[in-house]
Amino acid sequence: MSARLVLLGPPGAGKGTQAARISERLGVPAISTGDIFRANVAEQTELGRRAQRYMDAGEYVPDEVTNAMVRDRLAQRDAADGFLLDGYPRTADQVAELDGMLADAGTELTAVVELTADTDEVVARMLRRAAEQGRPDDTEVVIRRRLEVYAEQTAPLADRYAGRGLLLRVDGLGGIDEVTERIMGALASRLG
Ligand code: ADP
Repeated sequence: MSARLVLLGPPGAGKGTQAARISERLGVPAISTGDIFRANVAEQTELGRRAQRYMDAGEYVPDEVTNAMVRDRLAQRDAADGFLLDGYPRTADQVAELDGMLADAGTELTAVVELTADTDEVVARMLRRAAEQGRPDDTEVVIRRRLEVYAEQTAPLADRYAGRGLLLRVDGLGGIDEVTERIMGALASRLG
């Protein structure tokens, strides 16, 4: 069965790590808007130039830019039979856009997985990652801003998906394998 999934969760909850694993298990592409933006910034494309200042400040890239990018990506052939979206949708407008894209394609979401993690833990994880790898938006001030924006704009989306019966909440604290198994276990009921 094809899986059309959304992975929600605060910055630092481990979405990227889990998205790669789940996509491999299910045989669907993991589509990370953050990764696509970072690649475009690195290559200095027009899209990268439009996104960079927002990313550096921990703010969301404007919806029209993000929505157009995701529409293009989902139209690619590898996403026709399923996908795992990591980092999209993040705003109410993006939820509506995604609904429209799926309706146009005559499909719908299979499930939305929310990876939960408490704020102190995610800040600690991101500061550790900053010390090891250093992403431009991994300074403490920007990390705090990213968490604030998440709480204001993205966390409420979980309730909307819950209202539609699509939400699966998974505890993101614990070992990487443990969390993967929790997600697969939660998804099992939806994947038939
Ligand atoms: P994290 O989950 O660690 O905050 P991501 O790698 O998912 O980071 O995204 C990095 C940045 O890319 C975000 O802070 C934001 O500026 C931008 N971005 C990614 N996805 C979206 C989106 N759906 N809408 C708007 N901006 C986005």
